[in-house]
Amino acid sequence: MPATPDTQSGDPDTRVTWPCPGVSAHPVRVTSKRLALDWESVPQGRYRVTEHTCSCRMVFYELISCGGTYMIHRVIQNRPPEHAFAGRWTLREAREMWRQVLTGQAR
Ligand SMILES: [Zn+2]
Repeated sequence: MPATPDTQSGDPDTRVTWPCPGVSAHPVRVTSKRLALDWESVPQGRYRVTEHTCSCRMVFYELISCGGTYMIHRVIQNRPPEHAFAGRWTLREAREMWRQVLTGQAR
C-alpha cells in the first residue's frame, strides 16, 4: 500500500499550521508502539520551561521544571488552547521521556 501523505485529517502532532520560525525541534509522527503518557489537566505548581518544540504545529510540547520535578506540557493550539501535563520525573527521566516524545515513541 502506498504511504498516505499528511493531510488535514492526519496526525495533529505533525500537522503544520503556522509559519515555521525553524529554530526549535519538531516531533516526528508517532510510532505504532508508542508509550501512552498519563496526561493531567493541571501542573504540579508553578513551572519554568526548559525545552520546547516548534509552535508552527497544531500541537507543541514543553519540557518544564515544576516544584523540584520535571513534567511535559502539551499544548493543543485550539481556541481556547488545551493544556495537559504528564510526569513527575527527575531531570534524567524527563530528558529520556522528552527524547521519546520527540521521536514519536511516547505521547
Ligand atoms: Zn516549525
